[in-house]
Parts: sequence; structure tokens; C-alpha cells
Amino acid sequence: MNKLDDNCIFCKIIKNEIPSITVYEDDQVKAFLDISQVTPGHTLVIPKTHVENIFEYNDKLAAAVFAKIPMIAKAIKSSNPDIKGMNICQNNGALAYQSVMHSHIHLVPRYSNDDGFSMTWADNTNNYTSEQLQTIANAIKDNVEE
Ligand code: 5GP
Ligand code: ZN
Repeated sequence: MNKLDDNCIFCKIIKNEIPSITVYEDDQVKAFLDISQVTPGHTLVIPKTHVENIFEYNDKLAAAVFAKIPMIAKAIKSSNPDIKGMNICQNNGALAYQSVMHSHIHLVPRYSNDDGFSMTWADNTNNYTSEQLQTIANAIKDNVEE
């Protein structure tokens, strides 16, 4: 049973109360063009149930949503011979740049180095000992709940 939130803009898109330009949908997933079109073809994939972020997914919902990402990515790539690559991102939490609190996955086709999309990654390779890395890994391992 899909649960929707009356105050959520993406739930309104699912209900067609707000128009969107859809590229794919099924019972559990909807993919539509992001209004901001960071690059041409920029697409959002959303579950048709209101979950705020990745921390609210269970295995079943994840299987329904993430299984469709390669198919939609391939369709976007095939739609335009100028597409040379693709960034797939999911922002979780305001600190991580999430602005719409209905989970979504961005598919951003890439055309060139200056096509409007960029990411900055710090390189802290030399700042950790293997013991420090093992401590971090152990803390994560201890919290895996299958
Ligand atoms: P976030 O910053 O949460 O990762 O991404 C939210 C995305 O939703 C933004 O890229 C923004 O352009 C897009 N967006 C916000 N409102 C609408 C809307 O009404 N329609 C569509 N198609 N996209 C929207
Ligand atoms: Zn929602």
C-alpha cells in the first residue's frame, strides 16, 4: 500500500495534482524531468510512496526503486548521442543538499567538463592510519542490520 503525504510536492506529482514530464512509471516508481535541468535530460526517480530519505527504505522498496535505475539511465543515454557519461546522486538530509524531503535519485547526463554539473571530493588518503580506518569500519560493521 503506497502512503502519500498531502503536503509533499513529489506526492502531488505522483497524484498528478502538479504536472510533471514523465519518462517512465510503473506501480512503484516514477521518473520525470527535473525542473532545473542541470544538464539536458536531468531526471528524478522517486518511489511512489512517501519516504523521506535512504534511511527509510526497506529491502523491498529499495529493490523496486534501485532496480529501475540502470534501465532509465540507459534510456537517457540512448536518447542523445552527445551524452558521454552520467552522475547518479541521492541527497539525504538538508546538510547533504536535500531540498525536497521525498526521496529521489538524480540522473544527470554529462556532456562536457563545463556542462553545469560539478562535485568536489576532498582527498584525505594520507590523513588516516590503517588502525583509524579499521576503527571506522568496525563501528559501521557493528551496526549492519540485515
Ligand atoms: P534535492 O536538492 O532535494 O536533491 O533535489 C530536489 C530537486 O527537485 C531539484 O533538483 C529541483 O529542481 C527539483 N524540483 C523541485 N520542485 C520540482 C517540481 O515541482 N517539479 C520538478 N520536475 N522538479 C522539481
Ligand atoms: Zn512525498
